[in-house]
Amino acid sequence: MDYKEYIRVIPDFPQPGISFKDITTLMKNGDLYRKAINDMKELVSELNIDLIAGPEARGFVVGAPLAYALGVGFIPIRKSGKLPGETIEEAYGLEYGKDMLAMHKDAIKPGQNVLIADDLLATGGTIATSVNLVRQLGGNVAGAAFLIELSELNGRAKLPDVDVFTLIKY
Ligand code: IMP
Repeated sequence: MDYKEYIRVIPDFPQPGISFKDITTLMKNGDLYRKAINDMKELVSELNIDLIAGPEARGFVVGAPLAYALGVGFIPIRKSGKLPGETIEEAYGLEYGKDMLAMHKDAIKPGQNVLIADDLLATGGTIATSVNLVRQLGGNVAGAAFLIELSELNGRAKLPDVDVFTLIKY
């Protein structure tokens, strides 16, 4: 399956020089969306997974159906101020100031195996922060799974001790 045919690439979005991979053109096709999630499920089939954690917003679009397909729970990683319960937070993307990602303190029981899922691995900053949050809560990071990896940005370098699984590579 050549998923790339169905992913729209938009030059210079959100800023000049960025070639944005737009997955909405894949997701609006029900057969393809289901196939992509099922293919991701195959990629992680060897892992022992208790929970999937996904960062907002596109991490929900990939992580929640993957959790459903695997029959495991889903926990959201959100921007600061969105989760109603007690949270832990960590800053990310420091070059742009103080964006924070947050998780509920009781989202994970210590020792649970957590797969982190997102639509796209770029520089790896979002997922490195997500990994730190999961570990702070006592979770084992079973791996990180993405629909898309932008290989030249070498996000894997920020995840040296995490098994990374990607369906589509640019
Ligand atoms: P990173 O933290 O640099 O790895 O960036 C990954 C995050 O940015 C993901 O949550 C993506 O949703 C988003 N992102 C970065 N580049 C793109 C793109 O080309 N298409 C869609 N999302 C992107």
